Amino acid sequence: MPVAKAVRADLERASWIRRMFEEGRRLREADPDSPVYDFSLGNPDLEPPEALLDALRELVADTAKGTHAYMPNVGYREAREAIARKVSREHAFPVGWSDVVMTVGAAGGLNVLLHAILDPGDEVIVVRPWFAEYRFYINKHGGRMVEADAGPGFTLDVEAIRRALSLRTKALILNSPNNPTGRIYPRADLEALAAVLVAHGGATGVFPTLIVDEPYRDLAYEGVEVPPVMDAYPETVVCSSFSKSLSVPGERIGYLAVSSRCSEKALLMDALAMGMRTLGFVNAPALMQRVVARVADRKADIDSYARRRSLLLEAVRGAGLAFAPPEGAFYLFCEVPPRGPKGRENDAARAAAAGSATGGAVAAESADIAFALFLKEFRVLAVPGSGFGMSGWVRLSYAVDEALIRGVAPVLKAALEQWRE
Ligand code: PLP
Repeated sequence: MPVAKAVRADLERASWIRRMFEEGRRLREADPDSPVYDFSLGNPDLEPPEALLDALRELVADTAKGTHAYMPNVGYREAREAIARKVSREHAFPVGWSDVVMTVGAAGGLNVLLHAILDPGDEVIVVRPWFAEYRFYINKHGGRMVEADAGPGFTLDVEAIRRALSLRTKALILNSPNNPTGRIYPRADLEALAAVLVAHGGATGVFPTLIVDEPYRDLAYEGVEVPPVMDAYPETVVCSSFSKSLSVPGERIGYLAVSSRCSEKALLMDALAMGMRTLGFVNAPALMQRVVARVADRKADIDSYARRRSLLLEAVRGAGLAFAPPEGAFYLFCEVPPRGPKGRENDAARAAAAGSATGGAVAAESADIAFALFLKEFRVLAVPGSGFGMSGWVRLSYAVDEALIRGVAPVLKAALEQWRE
């Protein structure tokens, strides 16, 4: 059965993240007794909080008539009310329950929103490095992804965003705490961004939608606050989920919250409802809507992630790797160190043996891939930064068991010594 060309292209682009995932499985199968230091996935290793499991048990036992019936495409009122309260508090801005759509995770929310607002050829700005799936989502709904580089240390470079704006800019996706860098954008930068968007809208008549993608909002360390955004700019839609904060990514429960100040808000809400219906979701999972209606205010076990973060920072520092300061989420974005002379010779010889006429150039271009493959030889799995639009870096996820992080410290050190030889 022939697969569509666009899907083939997506598969090709997604191959590095997928390959690392598959490598992990292969390594485990080949030698089940040795640990695989798998830092490749953003899959929370903590169990959901007891309160969520209790709610789940109680609700499963609820057999009231109609419990399993179709519902409004945008979700149950009780769930939307709980989310409205939560987002109003987090964003210092009143959100009405009727401006909330329950979605199939944050990914479902992003898709339904992009589907609702994009015309063919519309541009969506993302900050580089970006969450790997953005490109696929934007392209799927006829849009074009436009990159604006992050500033030094992966801060928000508002000037770069200003330069990326055009008459075709329909939206900007902001992700803080950030995947893959762990950065949290401070309030002053968000206000500066809002001013740039307002000025752009005033000059062109086009006010881009600010999509605030924040599934990691609860995961912030060392007292860093994740500031509100919705109060700063009228055309804001918050997109989030409980995947990371309450460790239920497989249960697919998230939401969109639309600012009451969005232009054409009523039409947008209708378009979102239509998208839920026609993109195939129909509605967010009923049982999980009822669960989050009860536990929406529960917080992630931040202490566990903070411990994992400290341990990994220690391991990475011990190995001499440079990294972006990880203020939130559960990722560490590390810079690929320079390859030593012996390693460079080996790489060139390998590339030549593989029939490449430009061995050196290839090795230099894809240092992150070479590094990730090298680490794999030590059973350490990292995702090459190319998957996030940023070669020269690798992402490590510390949503893994503490013992694994303790164990990797000497392994990483030995690997790095060899890499630098
Ligand atoms: N946005 C970002 C930045 C993410 O990292 C993820 C998941 O890793 C998502 C959205 C999707 O989250 P969900 O699993 O809730 O769909």
